Amino acid sequence: MMTLPPDSSENAPGAPDTQTHHDQHGRYPQALNVEDFRRNLAAIRARMDAACRRVDRDPASVRLLPVSKTMDESRIRLAHAAGCRLLGENKIQEAHRKWENTTDLAGLRWSVIGHLQTNKAKLMAQFASEFQALDSLRLAEALDRRLQAEGRALDVYVQVNTSGEPSKYGLAPDEVAAFLQALPAFSSLRVRGFMTLALFSREAERVRQCFVLLRGLRDRLRQEAPAGISLDELSMGMSGDFEIAIEEGATVVRVGQAIFGARALPDSHYWPGAA
Ligand SMILES: *Cc1c(COP(=O)(O)O)cnc(C)c1O
Repeated sequence: MMTLPPDSSENAPGAPDTQTHHDQHGRYPQALNVEDFRRNLAAIRARMDAACRRVDRDPASVRLLPVSKTMDESRIRLAHAAGCRLLGENKIQEAHRKWENTTDLAGLRWSVIGHLQTNKAKLMAQFASEFQALDSLRLAEALDRRLQAEGRALDVYVQVNTSGEPSKYGLAPDEVAAFLQALPAFSSLRVRGFMTLALFSREAERVRQCFVLLRGLRDRLRQEAPAGISLDELSMGMSGDFEIAIEEGATVVRVGQAIFGARALPDSHYWPGAA
């Protein structure tokens, strides 16, 4: 294990040379049966656990959120059969449709991880267990109102733009403190922590800096967070960079392609500004 100089205390110790797997993007083989899913899930879990061990973290402190966006209902049934109980979806209508068509699957819950327009808050309130892309007070207000009407609560993560790319959603880091102060007004929202998408780059150090920024922000704001606002969770890392995210403190990693296989639709369909 490498010894870090004292002034880099923001970096987790160990394995700072872990590389991204973004060169695999779009090439992952399709998981077509329950065995494929079991094998992929076990392989990802093993890599997560190894990343934890590199930085002396308890593997039980990191949750794997499989991301099923673009995958059809038959694949969702296979993932469920392989043990998945919470699935991530990026688009609200797609998530809502899949929920409606799979209510027979015991214990299956949905996490919405993409930007939501305020006028879709009602759809979200009907079925989602978790929302990881809260980025405006207007949306918080609309969600809270719809959730009250449904008699439901929602776990939420505040999305932070750590890459500085104007195309990405999320609050600028310097807007987050004031935002958090306003959230206790919305009693149906259970604030759990932050979510981010790192820079999509093969330069591992630049990717890592996005994760370091989010954890540093969380550590600072934790002291002054209003009562009832928990910042325990850091949702960061996906197929190409989850190991680096774990080394920097992720408690949730969102992994799609490395479990389900490459997506047919281009990423520009899901991410603003993606190539
Ligand atoms: C699609 C998506 C992921 C998963 O990306 P993969 O490359 O498939 O692992 C993670 N987070 C968000 C917000 C996504 O939209």
